[in-house]
Amino acid sequence: MTASVLDGAAIARQVFSGLESRVAALRAAGVRPGLATVLVGDSPASQVYVRNKQRACEEVGLHAQVRELPADCSESELLAAVEALNTNDAIHGIIVQLPLPRGIDSQRVLQSIALEKDVDGFNWSNLGALVDGHPRLVPCTPLGVMRMLDHAGIALEGRHAVVIGRSSIVGKPLALLLIARGATVTVCNSKTPDLAAYTRSADVLVVAAGRPKLVTGDMVKPGAAVIDVGINRMPDGKLAGDVDFESAKAVAGWLSPVPGGVGRMTVAMLVANTVLAAERQSAARCA
Ligand code: NAP
Repeated sequence: MTASVLDGAAIARQVFSGLESRVAALRAAGVRPGLATVLVGDSPASQVYVRNKQRACEEVGLHAQVRELPADCSESELLAAVEALNTNDAIHGIIVQLPLPRGIDSQRVLQSIALEKDVDGFNWSNLGALVDGHPRLVPCTPLGVMRMLDHAGIALEGRHAVVIGRSSIVGKPLALLLIARGATVTVCNSKTPDLAAYTRSADVLVVAAGRPKLVTGDMVKPGAAVIDVGINRMPDGKLAGDVDFESAKAVAGWLSPVPGGVGRMTVAMLVANTVLAAERQSAARCA
């Protein structure tokens, strides 16, 4: 078997075209959805991520702005910058680019973003709503993985989904989304003994460990959908996922590449969340 490759760029384009009429309706009502990114320091990797997000917003007609702060800014300066965006009516979504410099309490900063503008979905209240099965703003990467699975028409109800990774931004929220769709979900972590025993029984396998080539073809159930969330910078400067693409491709039914897979979906879902946030905020203002 040779897996169908899930093209994140193509699926992201579909997401963008689905947003066009919604953005047009907002703009006709005098609302241009706006995303603000708070960027602390001058890490080249963060700058690339921020630029990609800005470009995607502009492609769909959103306003995107970056609030840059020096690497040695204080936590209170950062909190004040977030607060100014919280009360700025032209901004409907706020993200704080991670990681933040040492000495700054990332959670305190993330939790200070207004709930309705929390387009990364990291606020505990938004995560709690997801736990309760009433999602409001959902973290972008898990949302992008779900969109990818749906695009390929992969059934989830009654299937075994294995998620490798239990972080609050990928593994855990993704497990909740899969549970909500009727999958039987196993979440693995670095202490899981005999990881392959779990992965080989997965109809849907999502790998978000940050370990290059953690999953090889012999660990994949024939015909399974394998979604590679990992982004690892290799010594030669190239990006690699957590799945050994070539060996997995020979066994899986569907496989997402790195780059060009989930990363594209994450950006697309950030734009989608910003449009959704703008719709809700403008409806709330009209009510
Ligand atoms: P994280 O917070 O470091 O979590 C990694 C998780 O993987 C942890 O739960 C860890 O287990 C588990 N893990 C590590 N090694 C393992 C192993 N050998 N076997 C089983 N589980 C293992 O990372 P994250 O933020 O979730 O991100 C995960 C990866 O996805 C990274 O490569 C990141 O760059 C990438 N990412 C990509 C996107 C995208 O848009 N494509 C977005 C976000 C993240 P423990 O909890 O036991 O330590």
